[in-house]
Amino acid sequence: MTGPAQMAIPAQVAIVGAGMAGASAARRLHEAGFSVAVFDKGRQPGGRMANRRDRESGLSFDHGAQVMRAHGPAFRARLADWEARGLVAPYEAPGRVTAVPDMTAPVRDLLAGLDVQVARTVTALARADRGWRLTLAEAGEDRHFDAVVLTLPGPQALRLLAASGLALPGVARATYAPCWSLMLTCGRDLPFAGDVLRPADGPVAALFREGAKPGRPTAPAAYTVHATPDWSKTHLEDTPEAVRAALLAAVADLFGGPIASLQARAHRWRYALVEETCGAPCLYDPVQRLGYAGDGCLGPRIEAAHDSGLALADRLIADLP
Ligand SMILES: Cc1cc2nc3c(=O)[nH]c(=O)nc-3n(C[C@H](O)[C@H](O)[C@H](O)COP(=O)(O)OP(=O)(O)OC[C@H]3O[C@@H](n4cnc5c(N)ncnc54)[C@H](O)[C@@H]3O)c2cc1C
Repeated sequence: MTGPAQMAIPAQVAIVGAGMAGASAARRLHEAGFSVAVFDKGRQPGGRMANRRDRESGLSFDHGAQVMRAHGPAFRARLADWEARGLVAPYEAPGRVTAVPDMTAPVRDLLAGLDVQVARTVTALARADRGWRLTLAEAGEDRHFDAVVLTLPGPQALRLLAASGLALPGVARATYAPCWSLMLTCGRDLPFAGDVLRPADGPVAALFREGAKPGRPTAPAAYTVHATPDWSKTHLEDTPEAVRAALLAAVADLFGGPIASLQARAHRWRYALVEETCGAPCLYDPVQRLGYAGDGCLGPRIEAAHDSGLALADRLIADLP
């Protein structure tokens, strides 16, 4: 005779990083019955799918990623679902969408109902009883985890691993170009056709009309300006004030004179766009039960981060009890 069926305790997975990779991994693991806890050092989920709201004007700027496009079936299905539910809408060109009401919406959707802890910086991982414990900068974290998933940009993951005396071969191969971003409010509309201006040369890679995105206020005139990777590399360690002045001058040059700027704030993305990938959809060490996912695995796109998160979740689902 057998005893009463025992309730299986779900495996506990800690996910470091609440960007697209962390969110897609978390959703897949949750749907497979795992218990997930997501930690992010930022004030809100999204990572480089970011949005900053100006308290005074109420204007919001997507100062990181702007557009999404699907190349493969998994992300195509995801975009179709989000479009049907009003979380993304067509933008800039056929086949491209942006998020509604701001770029954090898709990540928030994937993380809805899950244990997500923001303003929590993971500073070290420690092996404990065939699993893991996390050290956080802000507060203690006593939980035991069976597996840990890192979804930070490669160099940040590498630093966290080094601080923990750990290694995950392959992470070091991911390299990134930086991007200086300028959040700009003007007293009048800047005269260019369409939603986005992409100059052929100069420091500005693209200038996005925030009011042209679905669900955003159209006045006052708000823009996000992205500097080119080369310019951002040259000015990587400049102060935000110096970058602000230089990019305002570059924008003025594009329009042949002063642009009546009311407000401008510079933000540096030290790890913006992947230049070299790890060369695998994800990295996973089944002995340590430690994995890495993110755009650093598959390329400089939101879709790459999404698919990498799914790939790592599938490795864990196959490996964990
Ligand atoms: C300016 C800019 C423009 C871009 N434009 C586009 C675009 O138009 N289209 C496109 O497809 N892609 C674009 N990208 C790239 C796209 O944003 C990324 O490929 C994608 O968002 C990466 O997702 P991720 O989850 O891999 O990493 P991230 O989004 O970087 O997520 C990593 C998360 O880890 C957190 N974190 C880091 N260290 C710690 C720690 N120690 N403890 C806890 N949390 C930590 C971070 O706060 C972050 O939230 C752009 C990127 C930038 C910066």
